[in-house]
Amino acid sequence: MKKDSTINLTDNFIMHTYKRIPVVITRGKGIYLWDSNGKKYMDFLGARGAANIGYSNPDVIKAITEQAKKLILVTNDFYTAPQAGLAQLITKNSFADQVFFCNSGAEANEGALKLSRLYSYKKYGQGRYVIVSAINSFHGRTYGTLSATGQKKYQIGFEPMLPGFRQVRFNDIEDMHAALGDDVCAVILEPVQGEGGIYPATKEYIDFVRDQTQKKDILLIMDEVQVGLGRTGTLFAYEHYGIKPDMVTIAKSIAGGVPMGALLATKAVSAFFDYGTHGTTFGGSPLAAAAGIASINYIIKHRLPGNAKKLGAVASKQLLEMKKKYPDKIKDIRGMGLAIGIELYDASLAARVFDECLKSGLIVNVTNGNIIRFLPPLIITAQELKKGIALFEKAVLAGLK
Ligand SMILES: *Cc1c(COP(=O)(O)O)cnc(C)c1O
Repeated sequence: MKKDSTINLTDNFIMHTYKRIPVVITRGKGIYLWDSNGKKYMDFLGARGAANIGYSNPDVIKAITEQAKKLILVTNDFYTAPQAGLAQLITKNSFADQVFFCNSGAEANEGALKLSRLYSYKKYGQGRYVIVSAINSFHGRTYGTLSATGQKKYQIGFEPMLPGFRQVRFNDIEDMHAALGDDVCAVILEPVQGEGGIYPATKEYIDFVRDQTQKKDILLIMDEVQVGLGRTGTLFAYEHYGIKPDMVTIAKSIAGGVPMGALLATKAVSAFFDYGTHGTTFGGSPLAAAAGIASINYIIKHRLPGNAKKLGAVASKQLLEMKKKYPDKIKDIRGMGLAIGIELYDASLAARVFDECLKSGLIVNVTNGNIIRFLPPLIITAQELKKGIALFEKAVLAGLK
């Protein structure tokens, strides 16, 4: 390999925080990616949920091209029309009254954690600061969000975590009940645990949490960074549960691939973030906001939540049939819409299936060791989905040899 090849330069000059697939990607369009050898891949990883409207979406290209010619960034010392327009679009289509814009999922969650403590401090004074989160959750890599994350493997070496975090078993009503003491200001939950391996929250669990938190004026934060914006079959995943959270965080697919995050809240909560309490230089920049308007409008106009619901059901049915064929290999099929987890008994089989998929031009993801995760762009067609699942089945067969 040449000394100045992309892979060599990357390995030499970029910190090794990612275990990369040895493929150089040069182009993306819709659900497809191309590498430097011209090989085409169907992407069932979907940028971990950041490519709901596909790669290089034409509406996003148009929006950012036009916006870039006018203004890429101005700080939040001023008002801008794209930011106002995106806030209007999000609030019109959600429970939220107000939003705070930032640049990533971790930053959106960080804002939610800070706002929870501020809310409680201003209303009840000191001592009510504990944030309850779930074991096996993932909320980000900053100190606050890492402290909330319920997976030791991300925390090792970075301790001590922040004080005031308490973890409970996911979908365990009794455990949650016991955790909601007088010192708690917020509960943060993923409606579907993503990095943890696609574990949906049950309806009775969320009902219970909402009921208890409401009674105790504890804020309920739904982390929809991975599964929001159409993935589960509704625009927001909380809609499935028939509840109204106090805050929702989104990021990944919000702006068609342009970095952005948002914290959504009811007015009763958002009002506590007053002048000077929180901020970020790039948050809601005209460029990102223009991309956000294009992206969310695309999701709504093309009814992508409906497609996720319909095709998610088709995929689950096919995968359950596969599970019947390989009952000693496939342990479980779970999901909501087009967030699908295929749990294998054996992590080494998962690794082989991943390799075989890649060889055949299908990108999937292995999370938490033995769980294959599908998060395909929501623009995928029934035929493409069928083709991808057929490639996946071939890879499972090859992996068994
Ligand atoms: C990806 C993810 C995050 C972190 O988002 P970043 O943009 O990577 O900071 C937080 N929560 C969930 C559920 C995620 O999937």
